Amino acid sequence: MLARRRRPLAKAITLIESTRADHQARAERLLEALLPYSGGLDKCLRIGITGVPGVGKSCFIEALGMHLVGLGHRVAVLAVDPSSSVGGGAILGDKTRMESLSLREEAFIRPSPTGGSLGGVADRTREAMLLCEAAGFDVIIVETVGVGQSETAVADMTDVFVLLQLPNAGDDLQAIKKGIVELADLVVFNKADIDPHATDYAAANMQAALRMLHPGSRHWQPKVLQVSAAKKQGIEAFWQIIEDYRRVMTEAGEIAAKRRHQALAWTWTLVESGLRARFREHPQVKNALPELLQAVEQGRLTPAVAAQRLLGHFRQD
Ligand code: GDP
Repeated sequence: MLARRRRPLAKAITLIESTRADHQARAERLLEALLPYSGGLDKCLRIGITGVPGVGKSCFIEALGMHLVGLGHRVAVLAVDPSSSVGGGAILGDKTRMESLSLREEAFIRPSPTGGSLGGVADRTREAMLLCEAAGFDVIIVETVGVGQSETAVADMTDVFVLLQLPNAGDDLQAIKKGIVELADLVVFNKADIDPHATDYAAANMQAALRMLHPGSRHWQPKVLQVSAAKKQGIEAFWQIIEDYRRVMTEAGEIAAKRRHQALAWTWTLVESGLRARFREHPQVKNALPELLQAVEQGRLTPAVAAQRLLGHFRQD
């Protein structure tokens, strides 16, 4: 992996996605050993991209990826696909996406791990991101579909978060309603070639919405851009904005602060989900749980007392 070969990287990601206990133990050792080689602020940039199915994520990432490879970057594309955690179906997973990019030695494309909860899928992706960085990829793109809480998960693991939008009315309302607009550092209207006039209008509306909804930061106010991924227009301008963001936010120490915050939050998430799993598996808790919950439902016991008793069983261990 450290020799920048893609095959060992792919195998390492398969290992971290495995649910077998012995695989997990090996994956943990591998991640620990590789951690020093990943995540340098000066070494890599993590970009989150979201948008509804059909907005052109694939097409856009392909055009961007080819542009970046041309500039000498090594680009990894990972997916967090909420549909893959329900029944293994994948909105993002089909193999034909990003055909030219996937052929390039300087690119690595990995569909979402399947199975498990969204949290589990997101955690695997987070670890896969570290592996890609250790394997010398300096731009990591994490892609997700705008259909749920996966946007927050991706915004929580990346340095800069991009919302891809369609230039028609319903789309911006959806994004505003779901709170995705507040997460975006940059909103990109794709398919501007179809109706430039409508795209201008949508972009102006979004600019106004951002001013109202997005707190921004002291150093960065979210931007709006128009592109056509299919015609490869606006890709350079996009990268210029990302480079500006990176420079300004690195100098201000905001990216470093963001990463520290993300790492701590991730630690606590893992601790809490680990504790929760252990709690539910604890024999005495399991024994007492149905009766106590029923008592709470029927109003015979207060939630506080029930919780105290359950935690008491757990603590005795
Ligand atoms: P995804 O589901 O978000 O990954 O979207 P895709 O990248 O698969 O694109 C969906 C459809 O939109 C495809 O048929 C693309 O060819 C088309 N498309 C993507 N970008 C553009 C664009 O800039 N202009 C036009 N006219 N069509 C586009």
